[in-house]
Amino acid sequence: MSFPMTPAEARVDLSAIRDNVALLRSHAPGALTMVAVKADGYGHGMTAAARACLEGGAERLGTAYIREALELRAEGVTAPILSWIIPPGEPLDEAVAAEVELSAAAPWLVDAIAEAAGRTGRAARVHLKADTGSGRGGSPIADWPALVDRALTRQAEGTIEIVGLWSHFACADIPGHPSIDTQLGAFDEALAVAEKAGAGGSHVIRHIANSAANLTLPRARYDMVRPGIAAYGLSPIPELGDFGLRPAMTLTARLALVKRVPAGSGVSYGHLYVTDRETKLGLVPLGYADGILRHATGRAEVFAGGRRRRIAGRVCMDQFVIDLGDDPLTEGDEVILFGDGSKGEPTAQEWADSLDTITHEIVTGIGSRVPRVYR
Ligand SMILES: *Cc1c(COP(=O)(O)O)cnc(C)c1O
Repeated sequence: MSFPMTPAEARVDLSAIRDNVALLRSHAPGALTMVAVKADGYGHGMTAAARACLEGGAERLGTAYIREALELRAEGVTAPILSWIIPPGEPLDEAVAAEVELSAAAPWLVDAIAEAAGRTGRAARVHLKADTGSGRGGSPIADWPALVDRALTRQAEGTIEIVGLWSHFACADIPGHPSIDTQLGAFDEALAVAEKAGAGGSHVIRHIANSAANLTLPRARYDMVRPGIAAYGLSPIPELGDFGLRPAMTLTARLALVKRVPAGSGVSYGHLYVTDRETKLGLVPLGYADGILRHATGRAEVFAGGRRRRIAGRVCMDQFVIDLGDDPLTEGDEVILFGDGSKGEPTAQEWADSLDTITHEIVTGIGSRVPRVYR
């Protein structure tokens, strides 16, 4: 189905993604770049975002789930892809057959990958992940030598190839946080253990840097950087500014109804907003089902008719209201929820700030009902 006009759309400027990736690469000379395109390309549309990243110079792509990587393969994306969240029961055979690289943080997964490779008849390319202090994914350092051992055994039998050694930061977005040095020290030790055991070599890619580290920690770049949010033009460390990044997404809607109401009119569920004068109300056809968090009630601002307006009353499932005063807005007129800010509209960063969250949550939350439109 395609409609000439839609109630709302997320416009994605692919040239911004290309430029942002080029800028990220300029901050990591000599390193490879793997852009995270998980979660539907941070809400921008996975395949289109992936292609723009590759055009911008990224050599590799990263996804959380194997099924995301397989979707990219089905769309014809041939670049190397690493997937890193792999519970039991995932389609490992398909992943190996499609040459999707796989992260392993525990011996059982190394074995499962090796067995899938045995069935598939081709060696699986594996990145071993160490928990250097993120306290999330990755092998505990105490278990790391055993993980490396198991992988070397499987490598010797020809079922897997160790092509990466990696980790992830907990606090790279908090400049000067003491855990950054601690994690880098632990990563160097984990690399030394792996290399001494025979899992090293110039073909093995070492990587730990997310967007924040890509932009601010030269010593964390190793062989590859692994940015996500910055590729979409959103700052990984807003306190330090925008780093010259350009937001790729503009979220827009068209007013569904405009109506005049008297002073003292309660607006939307719970009547949290009451008009203080005769005024016009405008109905914006986006709601919490589309990722406009209910928590945005009375907090976030949108841009309509050349000025900012705060959301009036409750955000509902499919709609919310803005108070238009006497401004000459009418049904079908465009409302910009957020964009790059160049017209005076709020940015995703401002939405994140007003909702006490990070831009990752704002853009990945935009629902599937909102078409992504590319230019
Ligand atoms: C999402 C993710 C990234 C990218 O993080 P950003 O903060 O968006 O740059 C990098 N590595 C891993 C393992 C991730 O899960």
